[in-house]
Parts: sequence; structure tokens; C-alpha cells
Amino acid sequence: LASNELQQAPTIIDLGDVKIGGKEIVVMAGPCAIENEKDFISTAESVKRSGAKILRGGAFKPRSSPYAFQGLEEDGLKIMVAGREATGLKLVTEVVDTRDVELVNKYTDIFQIGARNMQNFRLLSEVGMTNKPVLLKRGLSATIEEWLMAAEYIIAEGNQNVILCERGIRTFETMTRNTLDLSAVPVIKEVSHLPVIVDPSHATGNWKYVPALAKGAVATGADGLIIEVHLNPPTALCDGPQSLRPERFGTLMDELRLVAQSV
Ligand code: PEP
Ligand code: MN
Repeated sequence: LASNELQQAPTIIDLGDVKIGGKEIVVMAGPCAIENEKDFISTAESVKRSGAKILRGGAFKPRSSPYAFQGLEEDGLKIMVAGREATGLKLVTEVVDTRDVELVNKYTDIFQIGARNMQNFRLLSEVGMTNKPVLLKRGLSATIEEWLMAAEYIIAEGNQNVILCERGIRTFETMTRNTLDLSAVPVIKEVSHLPVIVDPSHATGNWKYVPALAKGAVATGADGLIIEVHLNPPTALCDGPQSLRPERFGTLMDELRLVAQSV
């Protein structure tokens, strides 16, 4: 179902005034984690001014260490909705457990399935039973085929609205957090009708490399990007080193328009 054997026409995810997989490059931006309402809304207003169409933010943040900040959970989801009301942006947020799908469904416009949950098949089926778009991140060590089979779990339940997200994979390289597999973009375009976006923030772990890879992603044919933006990265509760300041994000958006024109 994810392959283009049965369906050749590209799948376009319809979010009303925003469409993913069409002509426009759709940019999702916001902090890794929702920290408080004031900062979240001011980040939202700023990324909107720069041209982002979708607001990201994590409310459930199970981290590599169980002692690190774990997210504001439902309070965070409520703050997200305040961000949507203030800006009109659509929302994407991660759901990490089948027990939370119903709750997150009440607040978000797009479910995010994190890299670590790409093969949590029960979770995939559960979001497959809703009719809401699902952003499916590639697993840390998943092949493209395994990633597409994970998408298959969602579509098999009746939900066709899957957006694939390349976010870097584990390699022997240690100078970046992960290795961005940009070749996945044209490969997916060849074998699947699903839209594919790129997350240069988690791929590199370093804000300095984010603009170059974001531009590369657009040049290779990605349908969009998801980028971490924080008002003051050194104080971020999560993923500060890879977060762009709003001004740098604004400049990048201008640069991306030029790249998009030439592909
Ligand atoms: C995130 O988007 O904040 C995140 C946790 O990403 P990933 O699942 O790709 O590590
Ligand atoms: Mn993050």
C-alpha cells in the first residue's frame, strides 16, 4: 500500500489550507519540547512570520536518560493549542504510547511517531485507526524497506495519510549526532507515493549544519522540513545545541525559497 505499484499518483496530505506532498515545500518548526506558554507562543509567532506552516513541539519526551526532563504531557498539549489559536498554524506532536493516542488526538493536527518507535507496531496500528495524518520518522537503524513496512502498518488500518520523515541514521561517524541519508529522498520518490520530509536538526545535532542540510533536502526533492527553533538555545530543556534561533531560521527560510525556485 505504501509502494507505488498500486498507486502511482503522489499522496497529498490535506490539512485544509496546508497541503503536504504538493508543489509547496512545507516547513514545520518549533522547539523540541514545549517548556512554557509564553515562550511557546512567541516562538510560534516568530516561525509563522518566517513562513512556517506547521508548529512542532513535544509534550511527551521520554529521553535517553529517565532522569532528564520528560515533557509537560497534557499541560503541554494545551499550550500547543494556545499556540495554534494565536497563530493559525497547524500542530504536530509526538505520541509515544498507545495509551495516549486518544488524548493526543484531541489536540494535535498531525501525530508524530518518533524514530525510537518506528517499529512499535501496536502504536502504528493505533494511529492507523484514526484518520489524522501521521509523521513517521525513520528508525535509528532502519532500512528504507523497514521504514516503508512500518508505514504499511498504518495504512493497513485504513489511514493513508502518512508523511515519511528522514531524520538521520546511525553510522560509524561521530562528528554529527546521526548521518543524514539524503539519498533516501529520491529513493522514496522512486518506490513510494508517500510524501517525504527531512529533519536536519536531529540528523546533525548541531545548529551550524542545519541550514546546509535543509537546503540540500529541498534540492533532492523533499516535500518539506521539520526544524527545531528555540528563543534561547543555551537554556533549552531539550536539544538546545541543534536548535536555530528565530532570526537564523528566518534567514534560512529566505534561502530555501531560492533553492525551491531552482529545482
Ligand atoms: C523529536 O522530533 O523531538 C524527536 C524526538 O525526534 P526523533 O524521534 O527523530 O529522535
Ligand atoms: Mn528534539
